[in-house]
Amino acid sequence: MKKPYTEEDVLKVVKAARRSMMLNFPFWGQILASLPDVISPSVKTAATDGFHIYWSPAFTMSLTKKQLRFIMAHEMVHCLLEHVIRRRGRDAHLWNYAVDYVTNEILASSDVNILTDDMVTGPLEGILRRKGANSETAEAIYNELLKNPPPPPPPPKEPKGPPKEPNGPPKEPNGPPKEPNGPPREGEGHGKPDEHAPVGQGGGHDRWDRLTKSQKREVKDRFKEIAQNIADGHYGKVPNGLMAQINEIRRAKVDWKRMLVAGLQRPTDYSYVAPYDMYSPGIMIPRIQETNYRVLVAIDTSGSVQGEMLIDFWSEMMSIVRSNRIETIVLLCDDVIEKEMHSEDFNPKTFMTYKGGGGTNFIPVFKRAIELVNAGWRPDKIIYLTDLQGTFPDPSKIEIVAQTIWAVRPEDATVKPPFGYPIVLED
Ligand SMILES: [Zn+2]
Repeated sequence: MKKPYTEEDVLKVVKAARRSMMLNFPFWGQILASLPDVISPSVKTAATDGFHIYWSPAFTMSLTKKQLRFIMAHEMVHCLLEHVIRRRGRDAHLWNYAVDYVTNEILASSDVNILTDDMVTGPLEGILRRKGANSETAEAIYNELLKNPPPPPPPPKEPKGPPKEPNGPPKEPNGPPKEPNGPPREGEGHGKPDEHAPVGQGGGHDRWDRLTKSQKREVKDRFKEIAQNIADGHYGKVPNGLMAQINEIRRAKVDWKRMLVAGLQRPTDYSYVAPYDMYSPGIMIPRIQETNYRVLVAIDTSGSVQGEMLIDFWSEMMSIVRSNRIETIVLLCDDVIEKEMHSEDFNPKTFMTYKGGGGTNFIPVFKRAIELVNAGWRPDKIIYLTDLQGTFPDPSKIEIVAQTIWAVRPEDATVKPPFGYPIVLED
């Protein structure tokens, strides 16, 4: 049977879309320069891994020029906003939905104008839309989806044309011509349900999970630089809707380090801070200047902040601690305190979280803080690394002896602790 089109035909169509994108806004061209095209029969529709854009020949040839530009922009936004590497431990199906809502809605916003209602036909029918998602982060939408989950992904449809083994190996793309007006659903997917979903509908993201740590770092570094250049105006005008999202990510990244420094640094009027005097609590005696600033660090061992994020946090914290001569005590705690040590003895690289049976309780740490005060060691700050899932002490019953900083992952930041303030650890 004669192939309806060659790989060169497909590449030609994709290249034309690239040129058109660059004319639309020059910055798209800068992103595309980092994402060469790969015509691949093994992808169902289109996909990116942060290094390439993969195109299914059948899918690509079924798109209008505008639709193709939209898909191209869709993959670029996933890379630029780091959706590819920001899932971390989140549920893949919900994350896929969250990032597609954000991406599609950005591209549909009036100043970007890459996706218009008239294009939502044929292969784009069913793409995920969610009003307002263009001004929210994927993490925030994910947290909402946790409460109101979208329907589970549909099972793969039987492909049109001659019958195929539904769960067989990936099919050659240049087999029988596909219905031009129907989404090309090939029965190639195994395992994760979203692998059956087309691009823009929660599909085409499965390569993200196959990236190694160093590949993720590479993706992050490359797109961080591009985002920086875009923000600095090097690539000309950028649509507002996209710029706001880029700025949101960049702001979150610098913020926690600045907040940690601000939270931990010895205040300038430090020597006048009144000490706790257990024998005469009413009398305020200025502390002598040499007294150390003290920080109690609690680490929730039931999960949450760990791995590279913990190492990053720890090195940041220790540099502040050392340069400011801060005295620290570290508590490892789940529902009880398992270990108490000096910060120098804590190694984040060998720290393993584990799932205890008892759930998380924050109360033991605050009770221990009171004991430490009574023993003459009053912390000036308490830093708690946690996912905020646990029992909080009631400040009207248990004295909170120092201002508390809750260090949390972005995905846990929606929980509002009853006291203290959170620092969101973006990387
Ligand atoms: Zn997507």
